[in-house]
Amino acid sequence: MPRYHVAVIGGGVAGLVSAVLLAARGLQVTVLEKGPAPGGKMRQIAIGDARIDSGPTVFTMLPVLEQIFAEAGASLSDHLTLERAEILARHAWVEGGRLDLFADIDRSADAIAAFAGPAEADGYRRFCRDAARTFRTLDRPFMRAASPGMVTMATTAGPFGMLNLLRARPFATLWNALGDHFRDPRLRQLFGRYSTYCGSSPFQATAILMLVAHVEQEGVWLVRGGMHRVATALEGLARSHGAEFRYGTEVRQVLLRDGRACGVELADGERLEADAVICNGDVGAVAGGLLGGGVAPAVAPVPREQRSLSAVTWSMLAETSGFPLLRHTVFFSDDYAGEFDDIFVRRRLPRVPTVYICAQDRGAGPDAAAPPPGTRERLLCLVNAPPDGDANPFDAAEIERCTERTFGLLERCGLTVTRTGSDTVVTTPADFGRMFPATGGALYGRASHGWKASFQRPPGRTRIPRFYLAGGSAHPGPGVPMAALSGRMAAESLLRDLRP
Ligand SMILES: Cc1cc2nc3c(=O)[nH]c(=O)nc-3n(C[C@H](O)[C@H](O)[C@H](O)COP(=O)(O)OP(=O)(O)OC[C@H]3O[C@@H](n4cnc5c(N)ncnc54)[C@H](O)[C@@H]3O)c2cc1C
Repeated sequence: MPRYHVAVIGGGVAGLVSAVLLAARGLQVTVLEKGPAPGGKMRQIAIGDARIDSGPTVFTMLPVLEQIFAEAGASLSDHLTLERAEILARHAWVEGGRLDLFADIDRSADAIAAFAGPAEADGYRRFCRDAARTFRTLDRPFMRAASPGMVTMATTAGPFGMLNLLRARPFATLWNALGDHFRDPRLRQLFGRYSTYCGSSPFQATAILMLVAHVEQEGVWLVRGGMHRVATALEGLARSHGAEFRYGTEVRQVLLRDGRACGVELADGERLEADAVICNGDVGAVAGGLLGGGVAPAVAPVPREQRSLSAVTWSMLAETSGFPLLRHTVFFSDDYAGEFDDIFVRRRLPRVPTVYICAQDRGAGPDAAAPPPGTRERLLCLVNAPPDGDANPFDAAEIERCTERTFGLLERCGLTVTRTGSDTVVTTPADFGRMFPATGGALYGRASHGWKASFQRPPGRTRIPRFYLAGGSAHPGPGVPMAALSGRMAAESLLRDLRP
């Protein structure tokens, strides 16, 4: 068999996984990444000597990555040190109340009973059962299927599977479906937030997204050294199988010969021959012609109004006081519908944001130690934002008002964050849009609004021979494990197509 050469455009999680699996099968792989390091959204920001994870922080579905390491002849535990979070997240509300959600369902149910009464705890147990059933129903027929459609899904899931799927109320919104389980609006808010993991509004997302709750319940992991380590571990594994990495290298065109991908042209004009090309950039960049007109017809464009959430993030070294942060803490506003109306309808920064903080020097157990008073800690603070960084790059005054509202909400929940301008790096939708071209800052591809949306993400194999897609904007969707699955599907399709 000839030694095929594959060019991978982008070193995000999916690109890295494709590179690992193809290099491990003996192919010659070149990863071309315009940024300075692997990881894409899984990036770190340096403030002084501190390294702050400024992308994904909640690491789930560990077996997906374990299997990828195993297929490349390695063991994930030799490359990463992981600790399972005992508390999934702490939640606080402006109008009062605090609730910890535990990895253990019984402990969570007890906490919910104390927080909102025994009926809500019963509702929570029912919700967990529904979320688990939904996950199990969709795991093989959808998430792990290379190109799922209604027909293939019905065939793979079988009549019982389809019945289970209908029980998850795919045509209802997540918000409405949560009303079947919870009367307390704070609990609907808490579990509705899981739709934002796919960049979607709970008021428009399909109820199927309740499966994200099950994914967390199955395990949230803390990575020693930070999430960025996952990217460097994958890079190291790919290199150990001979893959080459070129950073600061932007691809501006995928080259075609006789209608099939045959290489790439770099921004400096250099041309690289390849037998196949995998694109790990956003599918919108392909459709928008940023990789040349030849491959543009491979994907349908994502209209602006169907883009997923963007974010404003503050990566910082700061002192905190007044509230016992855990590794993951969420602060809820008192107007959840208003937040998503601002973002998706009025297309403006939310007047009353929900604020997520990842306190990276803290653990995720009830006894998690706080940094000594007077010490600064590493924080990532995030609020949702409209994905309009290209059409409406918010000006400095708007970002400042958003900052005031965000830290004002934290104050109202009892948390004071004392920071200085020089020790804070703010990232806006326009900044994300520059890092991830053609997205406007949308971080999760197409929003999962409506039951059909998930089927509209393009599969890894495109209609252009030897040109493949891998990443959070392709099937099966966003999030580190999903993007990893996508990278694996692209590699598997490519290997099948190259087989003589
Ligand atoms: C702030 C934030 C928080 C998040 N939180 C979580 C979380 O807690 N848990 C979770 O699981 N997920 C989370 N996510 C989502 C998760 O990070 C992504 O879904 C996943 O990392 C996407 O990986 P990807 O493979 O699509 O590649 P990306 O990360 O999108 O990387 C694509 C890469 O391609 C490169 N590229 C693009 N075009 C070109 C070109 N023409 N030439 C060369 N290189 C190019 C880019 O520079 C980039 O490095 C979060 C994302 C963000 C931004």
